[in-house]
Amino acid sequence: MSQPPNGGDASAAPYVIEKARSSRSRCKTCRRTIPKDGLRIGLLIEGPYGTGYLWHHLGCAARRLFDRVEEAYELKAWEQAKAPPGQLPSLDELRKLRDTAEQSRQKRAQLPYVQVAPSGRAKCKHCEQLIDKGALRVVLGREVRFGDQVRVGPIAVHPRCVAAELQADDCATRAEGLLDALRENSQAISAEQIDAVAAEIGDLD
Ligand SMILES: [Zn+2]
Ligand SMILES: [Zn+2]
Repeated sequence: MSQPPNGGDASAAPYVIEKARSSRSRCKTCRRTIPKDGLRIGLLIEGPYGTGYLWHHLGCAARRLFDRVEEAYELKAWEQAKAPPGQLPSLDELRKLRDTAEQSRQKRAQLPYVQVAPSGRAKCKHCEQLIDKGALRVVLGREVRFGDQVRVGPIAVHPRCVAAELQADDCATRAEGLLDALRENSQAISAEQIDAVAAEIGDLD
């Protein structure tokens, strides 16, 4: 965090867009260093020790916090900069970054898919046994009722539990075309890993 340009009084600008004046700031979105002269956006926050800016790469902010970036552009936040940013990407270019990021997020979340279990704390929703950290697990859809609405939520199961889970009344994933769907939706998983999962799932009919 660094001091706002006017020393921290309540009228500090809500946003600053500038070239990083050093390589000491870290992006709050991706947690990587923002290189000196890299474009960054500061979001004013009020902390226990006064106000200051939390910095993000401008591109990272566009992907995750587009509304804030749009607001910063409306306020011409570069006019607050100590190091004028020079040529800035247009809001339309940043909107494209947002849209692309959005699409790949949706693609990742498309059910069903295979993923590596990020921890050893989650239980298989079929057999209720823990799934080992680092093991491949299959995420299927399960119908969940909210009042008179039915929604489909993701549940993770062992590959060996897939066949039985597909028989459950509230399972929202179909056995037909399952392996093709897993291949299509599991972007971060190699073809060999999918094959291994398919072998564990076994015969589905
Ligand atoms: Zn970043
Ligand atoms: Zn299981």
